[in-house]
Amino acid sequence: MKPMDVPGEKTKAYLKRDKAVVSQSYPRAFPFMMDHGKGSEVWDVDGNRFVDFAAGIAVCATGHSHPEVVEAIKNQADKFLHISSDFYHPVWIEFSERIAATAPFSEPAKIFLGNSGTEAVEAAIKLARYHTNRQHFIGFYGGFHGRTMGSLSFTASKSIYRDRFAPLMSGVTHVPFPDPYRPIFAHDEHEDYGEVVVRYIEEMVLAKAIPPEDCAGILVEPIQGEGGYVIPPDGFFPALRRLCDKYGILLIVDEVQTGVGRTGKWWAVEHWGVEPDIVAFAKGIASGMPLGGIMAKASVMDWPTGAHGNTFGGNPISCQAGIVTLNLVENGLLENAAEMGEYILDALVEIQGRHDSLGDIRGKGLMIGAEFVEDRESRKPASELRDRIVQESFRRGLITLGSGKSSVRFAPPLNIDKTLVDEALNIFDAAITAASTS
Ligand code: PLP
Repeated sequence: MKPMDVPGEKTKAYLKRDKAVVSQSYPRAFPFMMDHGKGSEVWDVDGNRFVDFAAGIAVCATGHSHPEVVEAIKNQADKFLHISSDFYHPVWIEFSERIAATAPFSEPAKIFLGNSGTEAVEAAIKLARYHTNRQHFIGFYGGFHGRTMGSLSFTASKSIYRDRFAPLMSGVTHVPFPDPYRPIFAHDEHEDYGEVVVRYIEEMVLAKAIPPEDCAGILVEPIQGEGGYVIPPDGFFPALRRLCDKYGILLIVDEVQTGVGRTGKWWAVEHWGVEPDIVAFAKGIASGMPLGGIMAKASVMDWPTGAHGNTFGGNPISCQAGIVTLNLVENGLLENAAEMGEYILDALVEIQGRHDSLGDIRGKGLMIGAEFVEDRESRKPASELRDRIVQESFRRGLITLGSGKSSVRFAPPLNIDKTLVDEALNIFDAAITAASTS
């Protein structure tokens, strides 16, 4: 499989202009300069075609420019673009009703809307403090929750995200996330490692550092995204729920990356049959339009008028795109994500047989991680190899992203088909070979 000559000349010219004017703080893995996209395929400004296994960081749930999403956006744009959250409009209400109907709660849900994942997390933090009138929180190492000051106080996946930004919000204590491939606490092999971590939270953190009656919430991703697509052991979420119930602590799940069908269920926390109190969502919810928010049990969303708000919340175009996205996920994409996810996992096991460096493969639905190691015995992360694989994939026509220290994440649109999956996996296989011999 011959690599393409990328970046092409047009891309190079744009890169020069980008460098002069765009903040260099954005982490760009490789020079993909988008021209247009359709479904799970994207083209750069030089006419090169790629299969998109990143979907704009797990955002383009329905693929690029899904015709029904585009039509809804155009129709709404003809009517009005904005009215602000000081007023009402029917599309906002309809979207809220629709997403509330998917909530993993046994009581009615209420919805707060913003524009992004980080704003969703900010809203969750503020609501938890307001509702409980408590100050402290527990977050997890490896977690990523955004980059504004509140959410950044929980983000602990790379220290560069925090460098020189202190002081952050006080009251956040981090604990290890239960990574079954890299457990850091010694434990009996018959014990569920997720329960071991929850025991540590209770017996160390709550007993020795944070009085439980002053702990407002535990904020956690059901599957760590930026942290390496890490899936906790099955006992983790049920044990966390029990702990929260025991001390009146809110269980807040950050489903910004895992939500809206990405893992083959509406909300990833449903894989463990656990009811959270607050769910943060964004990314895939409006197929690429900026939209994020929280849903909370109605009994938890008890803040008064004026307590929280924004200008753009409930934007009508984003809400229209959100309604169509929810329709499409409900009518086939959930099943496709589950089915294609299984298919990719099986194929990756086969690929693993050819590459010793592929240490671990894990995933639910279309949220799949492949972790590279120096050798399977030591499990030492092979970070440089992973970076080369992402580059070699790009050169051969596959867009992927790294996550964690040495994982590649697969998060294609939820409507990807088998033909494109096969093409992508062939490229990935070839890219591992090329990266391993270079
Ligand atoms: N939470 C999770 C789990 C995420 O993966 C992200 C972004 O990657 C965020 C929050 C922040 O979202 P945004 O970049 O839209 O602010």
